[in-house]
Parts: sequence; structure tokens; C-alpha cells
Amino acid sequence: MTVREEQTAKKLDRRRADGRRSRLKALAGRFANAPLALLAAAALAYWQRAALPAGSAGSLAMASYIVAAVGMALSAGFNRSRVFTVLLVLLLAETALALPAPAGFDASLYRAAVVYFAAVLPAFNILVFSLLGEKGLISPAGRTRLAFVAAELVLAAVLTASQDADIAGFIARDAQALAEFTPLPRTAAALLAAAGALLGLRLLRRPSPVDGAFFWVVPAVAAAFHFRGDTVALPLFFTAAATLLTVAAIEDSYAIAYRDELTGLPSRRALQEELARLGGSYAIAMVDIDHFKLLNDKYGHDVGDDVLRLVAAMMMEVPWGGRAFRYGGEEFAVVFAGLGLEEARPCLEELRERIAARTFVVRGTKGAKRVAVSVSIGTAEDGGRQGSPDQVLKKADEALYRAKEQGRNRVCT
Ligand code: GH3
Ligand code: MG
Ligand code: MG
Repeated sequence: MTVREEQTAKKLDRRRADGRRSRLKALAGRFANAPLALLAAAALAYWQRAALPAGSAGSLAMASYIVAAVGMALSAGFNRSRVFTVLLVLLLAETALALPAPAGFDASLYRAAVVYFAAVLPAFNILVFSLLGEKGLISPAGRTRLAFVAAELVLAAVLTASQDADIAGFIARDAQALAEFTPLPRTAAALLAAAGALLGLRLLRRPSPVDGAFFWVVPAVAAAFHFRGDTVALPLFFTAAATLLTVAAIEDSYAIAYRDELTGLPSRRALQEELARLGGSYAIAMVDIDHFKLLNDKYGHDVGDDVLRLVAAMMMEVPWGGRAFRYGGEEFAVVFAGLGLEEARPCLEELRERIAARTFVVRGTKGAKRVAVSVSIGTAEDGGRQGSPDQVLKKADEALYRAKEQGRNRVCT
């Protein structure tokens, strides 16, 4: 190894360590987010509730209705069913809790049932709508979901109205089961714990503003019912939960523009912004899957999509300082901020080798298939001379053409 090569290797090792650190930071950032700050503020307000002005509970209840209504209007506008349905259920739970028992009902049985369902139904729906993917609100799937929520409400109303001794007994037992620790019904606590675990796992696997907000909605709803003995707790934590969900609906629609739907990689728009930010030395690579059209023709478009996802996942995993973007079709761009070609090239060679060495197992309509895939890569750097990032990208694209001409599955400069 020459001195230069050694220096390059050392620099790359450092970049790898930096990459690991920044990935850990990014992972922590999925949880230590704005929703957490908001929840912390609500917890602080609850802790200092003695200092809140008289009548705060009423104002907070009003605030939670307004925020939930705004959130529902926004999520309906963005066609987001997850946020919409959970807000709807929270709003209905709060309304049911605020209303007096109708005439002719045993007030204490009625109250016990309403308090019970007001805790269990939000917990249940948070879990269900954490599990389900987004399928739109104004769509057949969205209508099914609304019908599902309506069916739950009808069932809860029928059970409450029945005033049946067995049902009342069940509710009382479930509500009392954890009395030593929390006034939350056992079922609600279990559903919330499951939702929290599931959302945590999802967030670890893939960043998403909606999951990031849903994750903190779980403790917000738990706190609302846990501290229910105090009149301010429920409207305070419900306002926090509604705000989290509303902000998530906005963030989510914004994030869509910056994340490629199919692969989960940052999109071309994110690349444009990254290019605009670049300064100093940097290298750009264009990565193109070889003979992808043949693969599509032979196995079908679905298999092609799966291969795209798998290749993209490998580009996210590679331990380097490069950031991959989906440029379009089966083409990706990788930006190495602060690195020159000398360092970027070994990273790209490693990526190319890994992809070529891997057998991709994909599920087509006709069962599982094993396919081999290779990529060609063109790369260029800006040593401070070549002008704008767009020009460097163009040079990388020209190098990619050379890699194709020279027989594919190679890196060209
Ligand atoms: P080469 O080695 O020269 O790159 O050959 P190629 O077949 O990969 O190149 P070409 O650009 O002719 O074909 C790219 C194909 O990628 C065409 C298109 O059908 C397919 N493609 C583009 N986007 C997608 C996608 O999102 N999903 C799937 N399945 N195929 C896509
Ligand atoms: Mg192409
Ligand atoms: Mg191609």
C-alpha cells in the first residue's frame, strides 16, 4: 500500500465510523422529534397544573375539538385515513365523556360503560390504524375503514344501552384489573402497549412522520386516561394528541415529495436540494441497473419493482458517507459530500460488487424467482474547477454511458 492509499483507507474508515454515528443519530431522531417536545410540554403543563388559570379544562377541551376538527379537515384534504380516523375516534370519545347520561339509564352503569369504551376504542383504533398502511380516505379502502369505525361505535352504544348485568360485570372487572397501577382498563393498556411496541419497531425500520407522531400519541392517550382523576388531564393530553396527529398529516404530505414511494429512497426533488447545498469538494455517481428492461420483459413489472426495492435497500445500507437518491426509473444518484473520486471509487466498487454477488429472490405471479442483477456506475468529482453540481452530475452520466459501452457491471470515471 502506498502512503496515499493508506491515507485514503484511513479517511474511508473515518467516514464509515461517521456514517455509523450519523445513522444512530438519525435513528434516535425518529423518536426525539417535535411530537416528543410537544408531549413533554403537555406533561410539564400537567405537572404545573396548579398554576393554570381557573377554567383551563374548559378552554383545553375547546382547543382539542378545534385542533381535531382542523386535523380532520386537513387529513381529509390530503386523503389520509389513518390520521382522520384516529382523530375522529378521539373526538367522539371526548364528546361521549362530556355528555350526561340520557334519561332512563342507570347513571353509574352508563358512566362506567362510557368511560370504559372511551379508553378502549381509541387504544384499539390506534393499534389497528398503526398496523394498516395508508390507503386513502376517499377511496373504497377509506370507506371500509370508516364503516369499521362506525360498526365499533354502534357496538359500544348497543352494549352501553343494554345495561346488561353480565356486560357491566365484565367492564367493571376489566376496568379494575390494573387498579393498583392505573385507572386504565386492562384491555386499553394492553392495546396501547402493543401499539407502542409496533410503532417503535416500524420507526426503527423506516422513518415516517406519521409513525413518529403516532408513536407519541400512545403515551399521550395513556396519560389522558391515567390522570383522568384530574379534570385538566384529559383535555390537555387530548389536545396534545390531536396536535401531534394534525402536524403529522401536514408533515406527511410534505415528506411525500421528498421520498420516493417505491424504494423509500430520497427522491429527485431531495437530490436537487442536496445539489444546491453542495460546496467544497464532492463526488457524484450515477448508478443504472443493467438490462433492466430484459428483466421486466422476462419476469414482469412486479418482479422489476421488487428488484428496484432490493437494490435501493442495498444503497441505503452501504457503510459510507454517500447519500443515495432515486433519480428516476432504474437510475440512482449517489452524492459524496466532502469526498473526492479517490475515496468515492472504492465505495462504489464495493457497492457494485455486492449487488453483482447477490442473488435476488423475488416473488412474481408465478412463484419465487432467483435473479442476478448488476449495475453500471459513472462517477465524476468537483475538485473546485468543474463548476456547478449539475455539470458534475452530467459528467457522471457521461461516465455511466462509457461504463455501459465497455460491457456494463463496472465503474467508470
Ligand atoms: P441498460 O443496461 O443499457 O441500462 O439497459 P436497460 O434495459 O436497463 O435500459 P433502459 O433504459 O432501456 O430500460 C430501463 C427500463 O426500466 C425501462 C422501464 O420499463 C424500466 N423501468 C423504469 N422504471 C421502472 C419502475 O419503476 N419499475 C419497473 N418494474 N421498471 C421500470
Ligand atoms: Mg436507464
Ligand atoms: Mg438500465
